[in-house]
Amino acid sequence: MSFYDTYLQYKNFDFKIFFKSITENKIKNILAKERINQLDFLTLLSEKASGFLEDMALKSHNLTTNNFGKTILLFIPIYISDYCSNSCLYCGFSAKNKIKRRHLDYDQIKTEAKKIAETGIKHILLLTGDAPKIATIDYIKNSVKILKKYFTGIGIEIYALTEHEYAILINEGVDSLSIYQETYNEKLYEKLHPIGHKKDYRFRLNAPERACMAKIRSVNIGALLGLDEWQKDAFFTGLHADYLQNKYMDAEVSVSLPRIRPHAGNFKVSHPVDDKKFIQIMTAFRIFMPRAGIAVSTREAPQFRNNIIKLGVTKMSAGSNTSVGGYALHNTDTKQFDISDTRSVKEMEKAITKLDYQPVFKDWQTL
Ligand code: SF4
Repeated sequence: MSFYDTYLQYKNFDFKIFFKSITENKIKNILAKERINQLDFLTLLSEKASGFLEDMALKSHNLTTNNFGKTILLFIPIYISDYCSNSCLYCGFSAKNKIKRRHLDYDQIKTEAKKIAETGIKHILLLTGDAPKIATIDYIKNSVKILKKYFTGIGIEIYALTEHEYAILINEGVDSLSIYQETYNEKLYEKLHPIGHKKDYRFRLNAPERACMAKIRSVNIGALLGLDEWQKDAFFTGLHADYLQNKYMDAEVSVSLPRIRPHAGNFKVSHPVDDKKFIQIMTAFRIFMPRAGIAVSTREAPQFRNNIIKLGVTKMSAGSNTSVGGYALHNTDTKQFDISDTRSVKEMEKAITKLDYQPVFKDWQTL
């Protein structure tokens, strides 16, 4: 059994008919419940539920403060290699994009790490493109060894690994994994990932579970909002997170809600997610999974990020740079995507405090 079996149960589900059957009373009943089920969650993603956004926001706020207090964990990404053998149609690092590629050596990683550490942030997210022959497991492992000297929590956002490979990195000090399915729509996934080993839908889908089996502390999953109909991808993301949380009780499960941003190449977003829909997804998810983390990156604009702090977010990236060597080495010519919130860590800290929330720089210590 894997999450793929859950996916199959809903793969041919008639979302249109389901959404048509929703009444206002049904939504009110769901919002009055203490725990909601999978179809209640889908109901909160409906067009009709968008008329109850204020009630959803209030409930989401209360559930979040009950479970997390008024805190926002800050983390920062470090891109160490942007070589990639895949050509995901929506990504600036696609093998088809003629961009200057970089692969940091260990001294350069140390230089970048030192610079990032000056911000005071203790949680770092290490990213590479999908080129296992260049950004090898050994290379990533040695990079983690360097990062450990400067940070207490080390996450990875790299290509999908086997359970054994996850175990190697976890033993070295990696404590969290971020991996996005991009879209749960298997057919569309095939189209968007024409070459490379990311093409294997099921291998990617089961990656968070393999990391859980290898005893990772925390997993963060998500879909790239804008690729498919947002209600479907948001629903499957929730089901996936729920599946992992129920099966791997020791793991801390989070979701990210990335929306597609401009990048190298000319990908057209076919299902744009506006701010209202974004908030509906976030609050519905919170009501469905009160104890799960919700991460929002610097893809989102500063004012919008400020506005949603009280609505359910628990983690935010800050002071981010999406170029390989973009901090101390000042490489900014090739980015994975354009950042929208360019505020420094200090500025984010101020903005969070101003809202009477506490910015958290450290909540984990890798031994
Ligand atoms: S999304 Fe990842 S795998 Fe796909 S092209 Fe970009 S870096 Fe490569």
